[in-house]
Amino acid sequence: MNTLNNMEKILIVASNNKNKIREIKQILGDIFTPVSLSEAGITSDPEETGKTFAENAVIKAEAASKAANAPAIADDSGLCVYALNGEPGVYSARYACKDGEHENASDDKNNEKLIRKMDGITDRRAVFVSAVAIVWPDGKKVVAEGRCPGVITHDPRGSNGFGYDPYFLVEEYGKTFAELDGEIKNKISHRAHALAELRKKLTEI
Ligand code: IMP
Repeated sequence: MNTLNNMEKILIVASNNKNKIREIKQILGDIFTPVSLSEAGITSDPEETGKTFAENAVIKAEAASKAANAPAIADDSGLCVYALNGEPGVYSARYACKDGEHENASDDKNNEKLIRKMDGITDRRAVFVSAVAIVWPDGKKVVAEGRCPGVITHDPRGSNGFGYDPYFLVEEYGKTFAELDGEIKNKISHRAHALAELRKKLTEI
């Protein structure tokens, strides 16, 4: 492949998270050449002011695309609990933060708050949601969403993963995300579904 073709295929991944970059390479690697922010020598960290996962994904992809003058992909994800009217939702990373704080809270603190709020609640249904967006420098965008349903356990189980994983039970497997093998999680996760949907949309345009 010549350099021009390679340049045309470059896709900036608006993240330095190695797992996300690997997943994007696995699913979109035949269409694009994903390049992380640090590989592209770019810093881009816009404020996530959106009210939906899709809005936040577009904000992050747009900022990276502008900074790199190249197409960029970003995702935004979180946990939505039915009995808590969708909380923690877009605030998943900042759930245990006080109002006005901008830094993310630790996973332990977020989980502690979730389990406290779920005290006495019998409807434990929840869903992980991920939105992914690709934005091009001319403003064109493609957005897709994916979901993974589960239930919130009372006690933590497993040590893989991150975030709310130890409390998120996938009933089909009888295991929490933190107990599941990484490869299986990457097949059934909200992010995997969103990326597959995005791939489908890309092949249709
Ligand atoms: P981000 O969109 O990857 O920044 O994720 C936002 C927050 O949602 C994370 O900090 C986690 O708290 C939560 N989250 C998103 N995806 C997952 C997951 O697959 N497992 C556990 N927690 C997740």
